[in-house]
Amino acid sequence: MATNPEITTTKCLVNGNWVTAASGRTFPVTDPATDEHLADVPDMGEGETRDAITAAHDAFPEWRSTPAPARAGLVANLANLMRRDEDRLAALMTAEQGKPLAESLGEIRYAASFFEEAARQGPSLTGDIVPASNPDQRILALRQPVGVCAIITPWNFPAAMITRKLGPALACGCTAIIKPAHATPLSALAIARLAIEAGLPPGTVNVLTADAETFSNTVLADERVRKLSFTGSTKVGQILMRGAADNLLRLSLELGGHAPFIVFDDADLDAAIEGAVACKFRNAGQTCICANRFFVQSGIYEAFMDRLARKIEALKIGRGSDDGVTIGPLINDDAVHKVEDHVADALDKGGKVLVGGERVKLEGLADRFYAPTLLEGMTPDMKLFREETFGPVAPVMKFDDEDEAVALANDSEFGLAAYFYTNNASRLTRVAEALDYGIVGANDGGPSAAQAPFGGVKHSGFGREGGSYAMHEYTDIKYVSVKIKPTD
Ligand code: ADP
Repeated sequence: MATNPEITTTKCLVNGNWVTAASGRTFPVTDPATDEHLADVPDMGEGETRDAITAAHDAFPEWRSTPAPARAGLVANLANLMRRDEDRLAALMTAEQGKPLAESLGEIRYAASFFEEAARQGPSLTGDIVPASNPDQRILALRQPVGVCAIITPWNFPAAMITRKLGPALACGCTAIIKPAHATPLSALAIARLAIEAGLPPGTVNVLTADAETFSNTVLADERVRKLSFTGSTKVGQILMRGAADNLLRLSLELGGHAPFIVFDDADLDAAIEGAVACKFRNAGQTCICANRFFVQSGIYEAFMDRLARKIEALKIGRGSDDGVTIGPLINDDAVHKVEDHVADALDKGGKVLVGGERVKLEGLADRFYAPTLLEGMTPDMKLFREETFGPVAPVMKFDDEDEAVALANDSEFGLAAYFYTNNASRLTRVAEALDYGIVGANDGGPSAAQAPFGGVKHSGFGREGGSYAMHEYTDIKYVSVKIKPTD
């Protein structure tokens, strides 16, 4: 049994102070693997959310006029502190989120890399001097920070979803108020503590654990907030977009995905299997870019299914902090019910389970573990084909030709990530261009990188995180027209 993680704070950070809710209300944080109570965190209300907005608003003028290299230095400090404390932060993440410890460690490093990338990008952010038609005019396009940014994040990546937004926001000169997911606030509060240690001025980073609607309604109604960056479900993204209309907030929405994973006859089978397992079963399938629908060409079908089945059987399910575990619990009971519902619906419609297909009871642990599953005979009328399953289920459909595979892959309202495997260079180019997705992994089941543009199209949202692309999300362009006299 793992020891309890070190919890450095259960208070919220507002204006550099550690505070509780005025109402005294809290909500509990539990370990999804065991139901063990980890901590109680403040249930911050409307007033405290407004205090945080005031703090961020008041801190903005000085922060925006701090030279970009100095801002970047503080963001880099934060990255270094995350790396210094990576083991502690990983243990905390596994406790509140459930993912295997190795994955938590990977996420902490990935999260730190967003601060590092933002620290690189900030000082190199430039505007333009555009050639004018009139000899007495100079056209300047300046990039200026948008202002106070509200950041709302999900539970599946409790650290990285924050840093990929907060890093570029700070590096651009914005200040932030962050609301982490209910299930995973402890990682966010731990990052908040490191922000203070890193030397970020009071008010630049504020973290509130709060009821989602109270927080978002307060933020959307306050015209001092100029930007909302959200990662979560399409349904909530749509609610927030409607709510953002009154104050015409700038938005970045990274919403649901439903990734196709295509394996062509000419694929490198080893690479396709490795990619499939990593891409499908990371975080027990609870990621927005994980493969949800497998399309496998008839010539390679038998070999692929046989190899994938053996790989899935070798996955080890259990508590994330136990040695060698590769599949942790699902985040909550609703998540398990959704997976069960999708599998039952598929079986009703002619699907066949080859591996798994049921909950796994583990002694002394919560009833929240679902066996990694391989299912064949997927058809477009199944829920598995239409909705994001968010669980460790790999549904597979056989196809015959390239056009058919691309049409099936594009038959979704979502457009976040897509994957395909082929050794044919022309096909690689054709298919990459034809897939209606914001991210395409061509022979790559793990495309995420802090330098790369991450984001979707269609119902997967808009805006890009990572690299220089993120800097555009947190800056406005100001056009300055200078009239000059040709001579004095
Ligand atoms: P997930 O499936 O990842 O839980 P959600 O969209 O439900 O996706 O949640 C993502 C984030 O959005 C969380 O921080 C959650 O608390 C927040 N959230 C949920 N419902 C709302 C809402 N109605 N308004 C604003 N934020 C919300």
